[in-house]
Formats: sequence, structure tokens, C-alpha cells
Amino acid sequence: MPAAPVPPCGAALLLGCRPMRISALAAAALGGTALLAATPERPLSPETARAATEIVKKALAGTGTAGIATSLTDRAGPRLAGSPGDTAAVAWGLETLRALHFADVRAEEAPVHVWKRRSESGEVVLPWAQPLALTALGGSVATPESGLEADVLEVSSLEDLDARGEAARGKIVFFDGAMRRGRQMSGYGEAVVVRTHGASRAARYGALGVLIRSIGTDHDRFPHTGGVDYDDGTPKIPAAALAVPDAEMLTRLGRLGPARVRFRLDCGDEGMGKSANVIGEISGAGKPNEIVLLGAHLDSWDLGRGAIDDAAGCAAVIEAARLAREASPPPARTIRVVLFANEENGGGGAKAYASEHAAELPAHAAALEADSGSGAPLELSWLAGPSAEPALRALAAILEPTGAGSLHGGGDGGADVGVLRAAGVPLFSISQDVSHYFDVHHTANDTAMQLEPANLDRLTAAVAAFAYAAASAPEPFERIPESLRVTPRR
Ligand code: ZN
Ligand code: ZN
Repeated sequence: MPAAPVPPCGAALLLGCRPMRISALAAAALGGTALLAATPERPLSPETARAATEIVKKALAGTGTAGIATSLTDRAGPRLAGSPGDTAAVAWGLETLRALHFADVRAEEAPVHVWKRRSESGEVVLPWAQPLALTALGGSVATPESGLEADVLEVSSLEDLDARGEAARGKIVFFDGAMRRGRQMSGYGEAVVVRTHGASRAARYGALGVLIRSIGTDHDRFPHTGGVDYDDGTPKIPAAALAVPDAEMLTRLGRLGPARVRFRLDCGDEGMGKSANVIGEISGAGKPNEIVLLGAHLDSWDLGRGAIDDAAGCAAVIEAARLAREASPPPARTIRVVLFANEENGGGGAKAYASEHAAELPAHAAALEADSGSGAPLELSWLAGPSAEPALRALAAILEPTGAGSLHGGGDGGADVGVLRAAGVPLFSISQDVSHYFDVHHTANDTAMQLEPANLDRLTAAVAAFAYAAASAPEPFERIPESLRVTPRR
């Protein structure tokens, strides 16, 4: 899942900076059909609506999504950008798309920064010796070979650290804030700033290293990794995440008196390497040069097998495109599946795609990313021009049986397709229930056992119907207004 945490309030100017949730059933009860008929462009023809409804019905009866996701985890396993697993994942993507008879299957090279974890360990030294379950944050620098040992300064947040300031000098700063469990992504967005910015903020006050309570909602002994974002001009200090039970113990020990810990990380940057975006297409029957992009990311963190993050998304977009191809009449625009490289630690795949396809971006009619795991669909998130709304409302009504029958204005598509925002490409995602996603996200426990096949069928149904409708609507969705065409920071 996204390195990008909080969906920015992108549609603020359109929607008053408030997520807009319109139950499609409620809309229908209020005359949604009449509204559709009254729309001059008739954004979804009856024929398109009928075919999209059929796609949903067919997918809900069962898809191959869980099987495809499992095959990626079995074949490639952990697949951090530039690693042997990543190379195996690219090969898997090419073979899978060819086997499913996608058109124009290819790998487009993407330069990536390579970071490697070799070994890691840690323990409490005082008041009582205790081993700690921890893991280096992705991108962290190593500790000295003998480890880093210092007294602990426990803080609850970046703001708390700012208030303590110089007290951090010579210490290991321990961020103890707990992530809130919830169905929406917002709990992650609130918590993850400590993972991304904690190390540089602590270094500013002279800290020697950082430990964070894992950004996760479980109580298992699996620490959660994820990217650290060092500021330019600030010393880079080692940063690791403690498993939640270990973080809670450290808090208890700290109440008894000054706690002292030691940890050792052998990890670091290994320069530039190569990966690739894997691409395959369903050629459009009427407007083949116009593109509806379905994206997910092929890479994963190195601890687990990246099943929910993001083999699930890769499998869902592949299977969704295949289902859309089987519909009658066939989709008019080309549906392009892009399995992005290097979402987790650098966004090299997204940058390479935007650069390689710059001339073609005006012909991108829509882009959707699936990167929220295996939970049930909740809503259709969108960021586009305001005139897209009637068509999307009609589409949401079709998605109702999948769970995604509500519209949510203010999405950002996802971390990879977010780079297309600057070109005005309308961005979409199917928001999913993430109540349990952050129990295993970025841990060694992210394996195929975590996949929920029935929910993946629902997700696939929603993505497939969206793709078909976006590829078949007479007019493309209005593009993102100029005022909202920001380039997301990676
Ligand atoms: Zn992801
Ligand atoms: Zn992730």
C-alpha cells in the first residue's frame, strides 16, 4: 500500500473540502434514472449500463483474482525494487499477461534506487535486559557495526518531540503513538508521518537514532517496515520499527526509570538498479488510441510476500481487464493494465511511465489504481472535472452489489497513477475496508493466507465495471481542472 498516505483533499474546490458520499440507492430513489436521462451527453448509454451490470454479476459469481495473486507470491515472493524477487515478478507479469492473451505485452524499463536489508537485532539494556522484535525502516542507514546504544527519550508525536527539543540530544528517540483502527485509510495517514519524518526531525535535535511503534493495528510480534524520508541537509540517523507488544513493553519499562536500548541494523543503499513496469492491453474496438489505465504495483517490501500489498491489486486489475474484454459490445477505448515498479520505496516506475508516455497523456481518459488490499469495497473515489459526476453516479448504482455503490469525491487514484494528475487525467480508486489491512501491512505476515477471495471478487467486479464504463462512455470524463493539477510529492 501506498507510500502515499492521506488522500489529499484534492476535490476541495469542487466539493467544499468535504468527502461527498451519495448512496447510489438513495440517488436512484430520488430519481437517479431521470437524472441520467436528463443529462445531455447521456454519459452511460443503456447498452453500456447493461453490459457493466452483466460484468458485475459475472464477477460476483467468482473470479480468478485470488489465484492470480497467490501465484505472484509463490513465484516471486518478496520483491523489493532491484532484488532477484523483483526480477522474478517482472517475468511473472509478462508470462501471466501473455497467457491471458493481452495485447502488446511488454516490460518498460524503470531506473530504481536499490536498498537492502541484511540483518537486524535489538534489545533493552536497562532497566532489564530483554530482546526486542524490530525491523529497519526502508531506506534507513545502518548503525555502527557494534550497534547503537543510548538512553531512550519517549515522545508521542512530532509535535511532542518539538516541545522536548534539546532533550533528544544523544538519545534514541522512541515514538510511541498508536495507529487508530478504522474502515477508512485516514488512521494510516495520521500515524505514518512519524515513520516518514520522525528520523530527520529527531536528528535535527541531535538524536542518534529512532525507534517507532509500528504503524499497524495488530498486537502480533511482527514489526511493520515502510519508507523513511530523510530531509536534505539533516544527518541521516538509523530508524527502526518495534513490534507493537515490544513498543508497549518499552513504554512500561520507561515508567520505571530511564530506559536504555541497543540496536544494530546492517542495511543501506546500493545505488541505482533496474526494474520495469509490466504492461498489457485490451485493444479498444472503436477508439483504440484513447486509454483507460488500470494500475497496481508489482513490487513489495522485503519482509513478507506482498500478498495484500499489492499482489491483490495486480491480480484484480488483470482479471478486471480480462472480464471487460469478454463483455458485449467490446469496450471502445483501450484498457491498459500497468503493473508499476518500485511503488514502495521511490516511485521509480510511476516516474518512468509518466516520462515515457508524456506525449500520450492527453489521450488517457481515466486511470484507476488498486492498492488497498483484500477488504470489501466501500465506495468509488474520484477526482475529475465536475461534469463527470452524473455518469459516475450512474456507474456507482451499477457497483452497488459490489459494496462500492457510493461516490467519494476527493480521491487521488493511488500513489502511482497520482503522477498523471499534473496532466489532468481523471483519477479513480475503489476504496476498500482497511479494518484488518494494517494488521499485516508491510510485515513478514503479508502472505497469501491473508487474501480474502470473496472480497477480491467484489473488488474485481467493481474495477471491471468501472473500466468497461470508462472505456465505453460516449465522451470521456471531464479532466481534472487546471487549479487541481498538482504534482504529488514522492
Ligand atoms: Zn501498496
Ligand atoms: Zn506498501
